[in-house]
Amino acid sequence: MGLIVGLEENLPSGFLLTTVEKLAGYMRKNSLWPATFGLACCAIEMMAAGAGRYDLARFGMEVFRASPRQADLMIVAGRVSNKMAPVVRQIYDQMAAPKWTIAMGACASSGGMFNNYAIVQGVDHIIPVDIYLPGCPPRPEMLMDAILKLHEQIGNEKLGPNREKIIKEVEAAALAAKPTHQLKGLLA
Ligand code: SF4
Repeated sequence: MGLIVGLEENLPSGFLLTTVEKLAGYMRKNSLWPATFGLACCAIEMMAAGAGRYDLARFGMEVFRASPRQADLMIVAGRVSNKMAPVVRQIYDQMAAPKWTIAMGACASSGGMFNNYAIVQGVDHIIPVDIYLPGCPPRPEMLMDAILKLHEQIGNEKLGPNREKIIKEVEAAALAAKPTHQLKGLLA
């Protein structure tokens, strides 16, 4: 009922003009289905975001899918071990396109405190990442903020014949980036 009232207020003449691009972006961003997939402690916060108190369902996301073929959002919640890395990539490859990724927490984004041989130093060495979410762990509110920022990004994504090519180029550039453990920052 609230939606109908809102539309009537905004569309007094009953006409709606938009572009196909904007319409597709609007549909996609409001119907993201995350893959059911958690790796470590961050996953507890992700589960909390989906439960009653935070209620991700408000953003069209209540359906965490058990099959990657029915999911278009991967929330990498937790550290990724080298042993797990091929599995993460396989799940990503099986997801429906277009698809997006959030690296949730310090470990998924950069390896976090686990600067050792067993942990992938940033999941962007395996799959392309759209949003990096800091924190150890990030609270559910932070995850929801990241999702809303991703919504903005998806809403403005371009359609067109070159889209596939652009996606491949972006992914190749992301995977070719210097590994995080080789970045010395202030220690250089
Ligand atoms: S960022 Fe912190 S809470 Fe998240 S997986 Fe790593 S150690 Fe656990």
